[in-house]
Amino acid sequence: MSELHKFLFDGLPVRGVIVRLTDAWQEILARRRTDDAQAPWPWPVMRMLGEMAAASTLMQANIKFNGALIMQIFGEGPVKVAVAEVQQDLSLRVTAKVVGEVAADAHLQQLVNVHGRGRCAITLDPKDRLPGQQAYQGVVPLNASQAAGQPQLSDVLQHYMRQSEQLDTCLVLAADENVAAGLLIQRLPAEGDANLQGMEADEQMEHFNRVATLASSLTSDELLQLDVETILRRLFWQEKILRFDPQTPRFACTCSRERVAGMIRGLGQEEAESILSEREEIDVTCDFCGQHYRFDAVDTAQVFMAPGDRPPATSTVQ
Ligand SMILES: [Zn+2]
Repeated sequence: MSELHKFLFDGLPVRGVIVRLTDAWQEILARRRTDDAQAPWPWPVMRMLGEMAAASTLMQANIKFNGALIMQIFGEGPVKVAVAEVQQDLSLRVTAKVVGEVAADAHLQQLVNVHGRGRCAITLDPKDRLPGQQAYQGVVPLNASQAAGQPQLSDVLQHYMRQSEQLDTCLVLAADENVAAGLLIQRLPAEGDANLQGMEADEQMEHFNRVATLASSLTSDELLQLDVETILRRLFWQEKILRFDPQTPRFACTCSRERVAGMIRGLGQEEAESILSEREEIDVTCDFCGQHYRFDAVDTAQVFMAPGDRPPATSTVQ
């Protein structure tokens, strides 16, 4: 089962989160495979989406926020857009729009940042938005991390967190066709923590750097193949770790027939009727979960009726 564990390094200004998405990730891939409306993702796209799923789950678990965390990559390259969305209860969904040929060995750069203009946006969308309240969004260029060699998603996100939250962060991410996993180590903001009073800034940084160095020694293969207990023991056996109750991320989609009806309403009656003049029904497939929503002429006419004109949703004849 998919699992997420939070932990603290006792007496140190450092916290961590580790996630392994197994059944949740496999369900996302299985839905895509069995969706006849869409092609399965090429392997490099699948790996990027898996890393996005793991990273967004780590980030959602690491903040106190009631709403959805949405990670979007606006690519320039064969992948036009990639999205991972995680709700506060750690239910998640991902999708990507592939518009060109993907080389079998493509890295992040070749997928979404061919000319260096790709961007990554993190949006925090509050659950019960007050009137006039906006979602918070931070954007970082994909080539801002200035990592040597092939920049990875983890480099981009580490840079993002240092810039937007002023928090030093170490991220390790990996994904294959069975597991999407990640480890996040972050330096805690020091103020007000009685535990850390008296610790000099230099000393705090030293502790963080030591733990981050241990964390970044974790290889992709280890992250994908070992269970959480083994990973934490192998990396941090010399540290005193305080554990929290594990959480269970799962796949869930927030699409609904009502939302699709709203989309059709957005097209306008004329456009909707023109589609129906060419085919029997409007068939909308959810990009995230593969669910089909079919609206025939009668359903479509109802979409454009004023609320008062609609027949009751259920009618019982005695
Ligand atoms: Zn859906």
